[in-house]
Amino acid sequence: MTTTQPATSAFALTPEQRAWCARLRALGAERLAPSAAGGEAGRVNRPLLRELGELGLLARAVPAEPPWRRVSALDLCLLRESLAYSCPEAETALALQGLGAGPVADAGTAEQRARWLPAVAAGRAVAAFALSEPEAGSDAAALQLRAEPEPGGTGASGDTGRSGGTGGWRLTGTKTWISNAPWADFYTVFARTGEAPGSRGVTAFLVPADRPGLSGEPLDMLAPHALGTLTFDAVRVTRADLLGEPGDGFRIAMRTLNLFRPSVGAFAVGMAQAALDASLEHAGQRPAFGGVLRDLQAVSHQLAEMATRTEAARLLVYAAASAYDSGGGSGGDVALRAAMAKLLATETAQYVVDAAVQLHGAAALQRGHLLEHLYREVRAPRIYEGASEVQRSVIAKELYKELSKEVRHP
Ligand SMILES: Cc1cc2nc3c(=O)[nH]c(=O)nc-3n(C[C@H](O)[C@H](O)[C@H](O)COP(=O)(O)OP(=O)(O)OC[C@H]3O[C@@H](n4cnc5c(N)ncnc54)[C@H](O)[C@@H]3O)c2cc1C
Repeated sequence: MTTTQPATSAFALTPEQRAWCARLRALGAERLAPSAAGGEAGRVNRPLLRELGELGLLARAVPAEPPWRRVSALDLCLLRESLAYSCPEAETALALQGLGAGPVADAGTAEQRARWLPAVAAGRAVAAFALSEPEAGSDAAALQLRAEPEPGGTGASGDTGRSGGTGGWRLTGTKTWISNAPWADFYTVFARTGEAPGSRGVTAFLVPADRPGLSGEPLDMLAPHALGTLTFDAVRVTRADLLGEPGDGFRIAMRTLNLFRPSVGAFAVGMAQAALDASLEHAGQRPAFGGVLRDLQAVSHQLAEMATRTEAARLLVYAAASAYDSGGGSGGDVALRAAMAKLLATETAQYVVDAAVQLHGAAALQRGHLLEHLYREVRAPRIYEGASEVQRSVIAKELYKELSKEVRHP
């Protein structure tokens, strides 16, 4: 399939970036798709991860060696868009390594980073990000997983549980909808260490999967992702397992999500482009009413709409990612742009994939068809890492923040 992505745009990638994207699309189709096809539905595909490691691709999503340089948000977007185009399984496997290891790269100790990041970047260790709970999804700050100080500890002070005492903590509760669970080798876990309300009492821990008391069950999803529920039955963690300081957990989670939010949009753009290109090819050769489908104006206008919306989403994603990179990951309009990019791109991809199914007719719904696959894949990104409604709330909040700054400094 030849991509119809315009050769130039107002937001111009460099020739090197464009060549890299083309190489990634080819790698996805030729090298990674066969490994992806060999995987078992709903399980982590370790051979695929090792291949992503050997190709050096995971090292673009996870800092692989000291000084653990920050990942480029734009690189991450180009990687995710290009792999999503030709091998969505490889895209997802790569993104989840980055998401799970993000808090370690951001706030881990030298020992934690050295122990886990090179292994994650090589595809030898599987990471997972465990924030959501049965009663805390969009409202993540309502999480209830308890980190109780062990006897002898001094952390039950009613504050953020800052000390944890000498004995560490016991984690008790449930996490759910956790990608890569229960197959990951370690989890970045967000737990409540103190009585401080909402986000202030949350602390991040790195919990290896073999800790006594930690168990999990896979969940069967619409798109066959490795995803499950984790049960913590008094799982022991110590200060050596802390990511950052007690009480900093929510900020750490949000920093990782700020990096990943535009790249969820990039994943969506890659899927939209694949659906668009398949539709152009199909409409160009499908006999209909004495000609081919594309001769019908209703069809050609639909294709034009799909292409226009896909390109608009792509530009917003690139702009959000470059704002993140130039702003050092925070401040300015990073949060606003990230939310806009994720919102527009995931909603656009849903529209484009649905329109592509319509243009293909029944064939698109046959199991194994590219569009049947994309139709199932495209749904979840509108829900995870902040549902579309949550992104709209973020956008509105950021707009008023800007407005109040202008009122203060006209
Ligand atoms: C494929 C997949 C992978 C996932 N992977 C992970 C993972 O690796 N780690 C992890 O921690 N979690 C993960 N999740 C969980 C995901 O982050 C949550 O599903 C998400 O935060 C939404 O929470 P919820 O499903 O509990 O829905 P709820 O929070 O119950 O929301 C349901 C709906 O209510 C509406 N709504 C919610 N809040 C608002 C609001 N403020 N304003 C208006 N409407 C609102 C929206 O329509 C929303 O879709 C994953 C989910 C999926 C589907």
